[in-house]
Amino acid sequence: MKILVPVKRVLDYNVKPRVKADGSGIDLANVKMSMNPFDEIAVEEAIRLKEKGVATEIVAVSIGEAKAQETLRTALAMGADRAILIVTEDRVEPLGIAKLLKAIADEEQPGLIILGKQAIDDDNNQTGQMLAALTGWGQGTFASAVEVSGDTVKVTREIDGGSETVDLKLPAIVTTDLRLNEPRYASLPNIMKAKSKPLAQKTAADYGVDIAPRITTLKVEEPAKRSAGVKVADVDELIGKLKTLGVVA
Ligand code: AMP
Repeated sequence: MKILVPVKRVLDYNVKPRVKADGSGIDLANVKMSMNPFDEIAVEEAIRLKEKGVATEIVAVSIGEAKAQETLRTALAMGADRAILIVTEDRVEPLGIAKLLKAIADEEQPGLIILGKQAIDDDNNQTGQMLAALTGWGQGTFASAVEVSGDTVKVTREIDGGSETVDLKLPAIVTTDLRLNEPRYASLPNIMKAKSKPLAQKTAADYGVDIAPRITTLKVEEPAKRSAGVKVADVDELIGKLKTLGVVA
């Protein structure tokens, strides 16, 4: 079984985002970019399925500027077998990403597509669900456990107040949550080996997909500064303050 893993290049999670002076977006010039953390978990899960003998090939896919090659090389160094980069200078919305992934799925015929539950830059949490709608495949989102047996996959999902287990017929879509696994670091020899693994470059036009944006960003601004908090000595003082503020009666 082949596994497709879409990985997005995003602002590193340790970097504090800076809004551009003209309010048109986040300033990405000269800041550290990394693989979206949930996508690292997706790559790790695919590798574990390959190590168990369930998967035979892992294909990492990224849609973005040419520098997204670095993100794909990281996936290859972790253990993916080959990569596909769809190069675009434009920001592509989740629907455009899902359409491109559907086109790749038609070509590659994977048994599983494992995505992150969300990309930490836009926090959309939409692509996996849209891809499931476009392919007509079952979806197990927010996965904390994934178990493939025969032609089904059992996905334990993190839901409000606990967990839920779904059985999906393959091919299927899974999106990862934090507790699924702890991604490995790529070793130096594997980083070197990754340089010679195949990385195909394509464009959206190669797949006949229209990625024109449907959403216009009017303005991006910093959230209001939080006012400083106060320390209270005990619960009585806390309740007194909450009453004064009208939070409790
Ligand atoms: P989102 O719906 O934007 O929060 O993204 C959810 C998941 O979709 C991510 O964790 C990735 O697995 C995948 N994804 C989103 N954008 C891209 C992209 N530009 N390239 C590759 N994968 C992406």
